Amino acid sequence: MTKTLAVNAGSSSMKWQMYEMPEEKVLAKGLIERIGLKDSIVTVKFGEEKEERVFDIPNHTEAVEVLLEDLKRLKIVEEFTEITGVGHRVVAGGEIFQKSTVVTPEVLQQVKDLSALAPLHNPANAAGIEAFLNLLPDATSVVVFDTAFHTTMPEKAFRYPLPKKYYTDYAVRKYGAHGTSHMYVSQEAAKLLGKPIEETKIITAHIGNGASITAVKGGESVDTSMGFTPLAGVMMGTRTGEMDPSVFPYLIENDSELKDAQDVVDMMNKESGLYGVSGISSDMRDIIAAKDTDADAKLAFEMYVDRIQKFIGQYLAVLNGADALVFTAGIGENSVPVREAILSGLTWFGIEVDPEKNVFGVEGEISKPSSRLKVFVIPTDEELVIARDVEALKK
Ligand code: ADP
Repeated sequence: MTKTLAVNAGSSSMKWQMYEMPEEKVLAKGLIERIGLKDSIVTVKFGEEKEERVFDIPNHTEAVEVLLEDLKRLKIVEEFTEITGVGHRVVAGGEIFQKSTVVTPEVLQQVKDLSALAPLHNPANAAGIEAFLNLLPDATSVVVFDTAFHTTMPEKAFRYPLPKKYYTDYAVRKYGAHGTSHMYVSQEAAKLLGKPIEETKIITAHIGNGASITAVKGGESVDTSMGFTPLAGVMMGTRTGEMDPSVFPYLIENDSELKDAQDVVDMMNKESGLYGVSGISSDMRDIIAAKDTDADAKLAFEMYVDRIQKFIGQYLAVLNGADALVFTAGIGENSVPVREAILSGLTWFGIEVDPEKNVFGVEGEISKPSSRLKVFVIPTDEELVIARDVEALKK
């Protein structure tokens, strides 16, 4: 029995989960928010207990120090040597990383060098890795990449129809994201289907604040909606998803607030999607609460549903039919109205939803036994995938 930490470091936050392995038992989990800002928030949950404290944490190294002190103070560990593995979620692994890898100085440098593909995420992931390396030098450090699951995509899916040199010289291609989540829920869906995963065709809809849809054939990603960066694909909380790039120069010429391409990309990443269309919020709960009385919120909801339906339609074509459609992540797991709206437009494909099963808190099948395409709600568990990969690579 050993203890393994799964860490998901964002630019100003750090989510973690501590496991007893190989039992896969969750011992504790927590979140440190507002790192580098005033009044950072430190939350720890263990057993039935929950602790929340507010004080300033200036950087990731101090966040890791606070986390480790809390583990001892709350007696989640007696000695730090009990923590034999730390797994880190890294967003972009480019074409270099096809699977999870033990961290070496070279690997850490490569994670930093890949920052162009995930400028908001990889530098924060690297800061988290360095902080743990300094404080727990004897634990096995492993990096688990969001992009790794998508490295099985065929070239016809991952290439853009640009001149070849932009792929060969600049590595411009589709990389995808949320790979750990798409992998986990497709494996769980195969279990629910009662079929070997090699014989399954599954469409996975990871729809949370960020969102992506993936076509999974025989357990491998064959296409996914996110692209060179996580801006592509379906409409999201604050991101546009698919756009005609001709809009970029047009806006730079016509809107004095947008000076260059980076300004336009920032606007499309941070001010668009549900938030931009509704002018109200990026949170689906607020959009649903407002949509019966506010025309912009109603439109935002309809556009959101429309973009997801279109990608599901594409992937039914890519896979030439499927066994199951899976909903996961914040909206996919929790929002009955979003699932209802998406599915009500897909009846031609043989989807028959059971309204008694499509309710808040459901897990598992929400379609009727007669439904040609099974529909599942499966809570994602990226941290568990990380802990399993660490366990497999431990010294
Ligand atoms: P992240 O991409 O940050 O990991 P999550 O998968 O946690 O996002 O999803 C967060 C989003 O899930 C929230 O912004 C909110 O829009 C949505 N959400 C959570 N609960 C509900 C609910 N009951 N109904 C509708 N949307 C919900």
